[in-house]
Amino acid sequence: MYSSSLPIMDDHMHINLRTGRGMEAIKEFKNAGGTHVIIVSLPAGETGMAINSAEDYRAVFDLTIEAVRQANEFVKAYAVIGVHPAEFVGLAETRGIDEAYAIVEEGLDIAAGYVAEGKAIGVKSGRPHYPVSPEIWEQSNMLMRHAMDLCKERDCAIQLHTESEDNTMESLSEIASMAGLPPWRVIKHFSPPLVKKCETLNIFPSVIASKGALEEAVAQGSRFMLETDYIDDANRPGAVLGPKTVPRKTKEAIRTGTPEELFFKVHKDNPEKCYGIKVEL
Ligand SMILES: [Zn+2]
Repeated sequence: MYSSSLPIMDDHMHINLRTGRGMEAIKEFKNAGGTHVIIVSLPAGETGMAINSAEDYRAVFDLTIEAVRQANEFVKAYAVIGVHPAEFVGLAETRGIDEAYAIVEEGLDIAAGYVAEGKAIGVKSGRPHYPVSPEIWEQSNMLMRHAMDLCKERDCAIQLHTESEDNTMESLSEIASMAGLPPWRVIKHFSPPLVKKCETLNIFPSVIASKGALEEAVAQGSRFMLETDYIDDANRPGAVLGPKTVPRKTKEAIRTGTPEELFFKVHKDNPEKCYGIKVEL
């Protein structure tokens, strides 16, 4: 039985205060039963902002912090901010690889500074999920490692946007181990439901709640979180999962026999451990 004392968290949602539905999406999430949400910074370009220097990331991050402030009037919201791996690829094309590297590296430093100030609870980084040149791939990995080092120093979580190939989890786990990050701090965003596999790796899966994924995850255990990667883009409605998805699928799973206890792990114990927050109603 679903009880109203269960918190329900979406581990990765975007809110675009400039061109998206903004708080309408948050209200939809809340009305479906959602109580907690991690709002992740959008790539600068998607908010209509240009990055000419790393300092320009402050405006991008501030927009995320403002969305979190507004969302906190409806649910409990937190910010995870950083530089999307595709931004490095784009900057490298227009400014050359060295300048792009310096901008992204400093952008990540600024993101970690927001964590230190208590404005955000984690850093977003990763590497391209599509084929790139060997040089871009190598430097993307170096930037991701830099972000991990920052998170190790701050004792905070990192959300990783990466490819999802056969050996991805092993590869990320190895890099995270070298950075000395504990397994619960290394969150694979947009994760397939590889819950069992990740139990033995330095990775914590944030499972994308697409069709069949929750059922698959639940069959493998309870060491995972759930997300929609809702993009809040008015021009692409239905391109990704909507704000209601995580609460709706959680309740549906409980109705059809998954013990509610398992979801106390998924929506409360796991995020508490990963982010060092208190998840309470
Ligand atoms: Zn996302």
